[in-house]
Amino acid sequence: MSGNNTQRRSIRKGSLRIEALVVPPLSNNVYILYEDGSDDALIVDVAQGASSLFQRARELELRPFMILNTHGHTDHTAEDGALRSMTSAKIAIHELDAYRLALDDEASEGLGIKKEPIEADIQLTNGQQIRFGKESILKVIHTPGHTEGSISIYAEKEGQLFSGDTLFQGGYGRVDGFGSDPNAMKLSLKKLLELPGPTDVYPGHGGFTTIQNEMWLKEITD
Ligand SMILES: [Zn+2]
Ligand SMILES: [Zn+2]
Repeated sequence: MSGNNTQRRSIRKGSLRIEALVVPPLSNNVYILYEDGSDDALIVDVAQGASSLFQRARELELRPFMILNTHGHTDHTAEDGALRSMTSAKIAIHELDAYRLALDDEASEGLGIKKEPIEADIQLTNGQQIRFGKESILKVIHTPGHTEGSISIYAEKEGQLFSGDTLFQGGYGRVDGFGSDPNAMKLSLKKLLELPGPTDVYPGHGGFTTIQNEMWLKEITD
């Protein structure tokens, strides 16, 4: 535990380092990814954690160069603009969710906020690779269902997956919202089930898991 009710965990997998933070008010999981020996850092979702992420990146002497959004819901993106101003990191989101950065949604209402409309700097597509440090590669896997442009972010070599609101420990994201599609969710979960069983899964909310711990995936995708 550190200040401001932000909880924090540090994870190392090969040369990949993961700082996992849980930020108030909705306990969103946000992540700083970096490589040993490099100051390049990627942020996976900002939520309302811009100042916590900025402070932690500074403590670790990291330079965030990209904000990777798992999807466009406001509870995950509310402070993207703020963190971009603090760091000049580029905002990246799947091309089908980019429009959401300019809109308030159900989550904004729940949070009681009106967000500052922002524009994406980078629009992502399925299979795109993001390289950082000397040897780290993240792969964009388009996993629609919760929203049209939901993605999972996969560090293949290290077996680490950032699943946003697609796959949770013991469940999956809601498919009854604007732009949701239950059938697309089923296909997306099927796609994730094809990843190696020991793959560590870091969702947008709740506890961490692995693909093989989520046995229910087999039944739902049959
Ligand atoms: Zn969501
Ligand atoms: Zn969410």
